[in-house]
Amino acid sequence: MEDCVFCKIIKGEIPSTKVYEDEFCFAFLDIEPVNVGHILVIPKKHVETIDKMTKEDLCNLNEGILKVSKGILKIADGLNVMQNNRWIAGQEVSHVHFHLIPRYEGDGYKFNWVRDEGVTEEENKEFLEKFGKFIS
Ligand code: 5GP
Ligand code: ZN
Repeated sequence: MEDCVFCKIIKGEIPSTKVYEDEFCFAFLDIEPVNVGHILVIPKKHVETIDKMTKEDLCNLNEGILKVSKGILKIADGLNVMQNNRWIAGQEVSHVHFHLIPRYEGDGYKFNWVRDEGVTEEENKEFLEKFGKFIS
């Protein structure tokens, strides 16, 4: 896609620090890392969000995610995998990407998830009724 930063990175039109590449995926260091070795794994095919991927697209990408994860876990003490979809969920670049964030003892980094104790059974029931129509 013409205006996509990540498509430009894949084509080499924008420089990046590549750490891994295969037929389907490209992996490179995040320009604004959360931690040392923060890697983005992206499909070579431009797809905006995970729901737009085919099963095959995702399986192909998974090979790269697995390889990079194994590499990270040889060096780091832990690993967080994160994937944002749509702006409300924090997606800034509209090309599917998985954040692979190495974790180190004492790095002090915390996912700031605030648990919503106000979620009711009724709300979950309503959600599941809608969800059931789309899942099989
Ligand atoms: P999002 O917020 O969409 O889940 O994450 C997008 C990520 O892409 C951010 O962590 C951001 O630092 C990274 N990023 C955006 N533009 C570039 C770039 O030009 N080069 C690299 N290496 N990373 C980028
Ligand atoms: Zn793209």
